[in-house]
Amino acid sequence: MSENLYVLLASRFPADRSRPAFLLSDGSEVSYGALETGAGRIAARLIAEGVQPGDRIGFQAEKSVEGVMLYLGVLKAGAVFLPLNAAYTQAEVDYFRADAGPKLLVTDPAAFLAGAPAEPSPATTPRRASDLAAILYTSGTTGRSKGAMLSHGNLASNALALYDAWGFSPDDVLLHALPIFHVHGLFVALHCALLGGCPMVWLPKFVDAEVLAGLSRATVMMGVPTFYTRLLANPAFGRESIGRVRVFISGSAPLLESTFAEFEARTGQRILERYGMSEAAIITSNPLHGDRVAGSVGFPLPGVELRIGGAEETGVIQIRGPSVFSGYWRMPEKTAEEFTADGFFITGDVGRRDPDGRVWISGRAKDLIISGGYNVYPKEVELVLDEMPGVVESAVIGLPHPDFGEGVVAVVIGQGQEPALIAAARAQLAAFKAPKRILFVTELPRNAMGKVQKNLLRQTYADLFAKS
Ligand code: AMP
Repeated sequence: MSENLYVLLASRFPADRSRPAFLLSDGSEVSYGALETGAGRIAARLIAEGVQPGDRIGFQAEKSVEGVMLYLGVLKAGAVFLPLNAAYTQAEVDYFRADAGPKLLVTDPAAFLAGAPAEPSPATTPRRASDLAAILYTSGTTGRSKGAMLSHGNLASNALALYDAWGFSPDDVLLHALPIFHVHGLFVALHCALLGGCPMVWLPKFVDAEVLAGLSRATVMMGVPTFYTRLLANPAFGRESIGRVRVFISGSAPLLESTFAEFEARTGQRILERYGMSEAAIITSNPLHGDRVAGSVGFPLPGVELRIGGAEETGVIQIRGPSVFSGYWRMPEKTAEEFTADGFFITGDVGRRDPDGRVWISGRAKDLIISGGYNVYPKEVELVLDEMPGVVESAVIGLPHPDFGEGVVAVVIGQGQEPALIAAARAQLAAFKAPKRILFVTELPRNAMGKVQKNLLRQTYADLFAKS
């Protein structure tokens, strides 16, 4: 039997293929039949163009229904989906092309579909559970991005576990406002809906008015914490806005306890926070039934073994289970470093478990910044800034930000104009990585080994973005 993820997903599409898969803002719909045909036509084109099982197919475009068709068509053809953030610059894309060696890079999936044969590919290329389905690039602290290799089995096991854990059924309608180049929107959200044959309220991005309108049709919403703070910032948002939504799910970055509390006060609902990463999809979740505790990311999903490394109560979280990736693309040494001898992945997140078994994440071992749900590795930004005229040295940190969770800030030794330097950084980096503020100093705090003490910088400037 084929273990191709596409076979599993398509087996759960509604028997009546005229049922909607996508509910669009303009009032139109795209049916499951159209989704299946689109995926089949794309698979036919890939095969006609000589794509072989295991070939990588890059995707860099704004969110669209055709982008989902491309994803499913790639799976169906037995190829490997390689989504890239739509905000990446040419230089960044060049790196991914060189590293992953995609056979094709699709930047206009609608045009790609238009050029596909009219007849969908009837067959789905057989794949084993261990065969590669997708590569997701995560940034590296050394500035080099790493491609997490995810198999059909990794993705299928997590999708099925989440479908059960979150009580999905064919009666659900998912509000989908997340990007589809990242694990959250592409796998977590999309797979839950597809497994139920559910319609999705399909929003290209988070726009307050569209989300509010969409909520009146939805039963489940998934989002990053920023979505929830934006909803709360809107005075029109309240108990009457949430219609029949049965659960609001949050992840990709820590949900502030104040957001959890305010959301409950305004709507009567407790946001369900969960924790995951590109390398393993979802790892822990607060319960659907039972206490959802603010600040905790809940319990390991069934099948996930989670332990804390080190002798202390708080340490680096290690995980093992069917959804955990097999390693980083063409980086065997890096992969070996990040797995223990007994096969646990060392997540790099620091946390603890309380006596009830709930997991609490206290921070990141690495200096990862999460701004608006996206990962920003300081080193990558520092490398760009340090090349600029007038900059002697830079230290990039994340500071608490009321909208983005964390805002990227550069503390710079040197001289220059803040707006000009920010603009220069934005020309080379995706907008979400560029510093929101640049502070000029004459020296940076260092420890005895000469290493910059970023924790002191974070303390000194903690209130930079505080609400006035
Ligand atoms: P990504 O691979 O982009 O999904 O980023 C994964 C990282 O996001 C994890 O390693 C965590 O550091 C962080 N993360 C995800 N969900 C949560 C959460 N609920 N609370 C705190 N950090 C989270």
